[in-house]
Amino acid sequence: MKIRRISIYNEFNCIGTDCPASCCRGWRVPVDEEACLKYLNKKGVLGTLLRYSIVKKDGITSLRSVFNRCPFWGPDRLCTIQKQCGTDYMPLVCVQFPRQLSNFGEFCEETLYLACPESARLFLQYAAQDKPFSFSETEGTVSYDINTTNDDKAFLDYLLQAREELVHMLRDGFPYDGMAILHYGADAQDACLHQAPLPHPAAYRENTAERFPMDCDTFNTLFFNGFYHPTLRTVSPLLYKLCKRYIRELGLLSKRKPTAAAQKLATYNAHLYVLLPDLDRLLNRYYEYYLQTGFPDIFEDYSFSRHLLFGMAKTNMLRLFLALYAKNRKQLSTEELASLIAIYERRAPQIEDALKFINRK
Ligand code: SF4
Repeated sequence: MKIRRISIYNEFNCIGTDCPASCCRGWRVPVDEEACLKYLNKKGVLGTLLRYSIVKKDGITSLRSVFNRCPFWGPDRLCTIQKQCGTDYMPLVCVQFPRQLSNFGEFCEETLYLACPESARLFLQYAAQDKPFSFSETEGTVSYDINTTNDDKAFLDYLLQAREELVHMLRDGFPYDGMAILHYGADAQDACLHQAPLPHPAAYRENTAERFPMDCDTFNTLFFNGFYHPTLRTVSPLLYKLCKRYIRELGLLSKRKPTAAAQKLATYNAHLYVLLPDLDRLLNRYYEYYLQTGFPDIFEDYSFSRHLLFGMAKTNMLRLFLALYAKNRKQLSTEELASLIAIYERRAPQIEDALKFINRK
């Protein structure tokens, strides 16, 4: 088996008690079958607690969440299961997180979810030093199963080639929210269906100035069709606070006075660029990382446009949250940025649901 690992992967180490946004909070922890069997047969006090904590709902077995935390996350901010029985005794998802392990049958790709502050910090470090998010290849065996039902190898090769071209386009100065990216994706999808060669990026150069429109109207669509939910108040308090700030100061205003809302948003963005002058380059790297980790999802639905648009919407929403957070601040540290990215990434998949409403506009 060929194992392809993204450059930041081997540098990752969980920072445990120092983590500002532990993955033991805000998420319900699913329990895989193997762990579940072990827990049901475990003796002693821990066994009793484990059996009491296992719940089954909608066909998913998980650990009962207590005050939106894993019940085994101790006051010392460490995992009780891990402390007493070792890492391998934890549910599989806890052993793997934030590693994203994709097995395509012929090869595997191993990357990191940015929903962890430490992987987000590594992402920021690489972006600041302008290091590539490239894959290194080794041979070996893996313990995780194939996680695709598609066996269209020719399409997978095509997809990886297209991803490489898109990454080059971004590194070559194409902006992440440029229509050129979407046009390229649409043509690549078309070429793929007709088994024609991939289009050449140079043909899209003249489109680089045209940007995908991301105004308050679009943000409202994304907010109110998946991203925002009142439960964020307990699940993710900082994100909830920023959402409320958006709704109060921009979202509602845009419905009454769109021009005033646009001006206000421009002011927030201008302040953000004062604190982060290199923000555009950072966002391009964020989109590039999205391509390296999320683009192969197209293997499941063959929709280049939807996935490229999702990346754009996700990147634009990140900029919005950074701007909302930066308001009234004099500086933004790397640690703050890493935490914000991690917190945001945990909710960002919800944006995908709202894309169909954007497409209809
Ligand atoms: S979010 Fe990342 S660094 Fe924090 S506890 Fe989880 S794995 Fe460790």
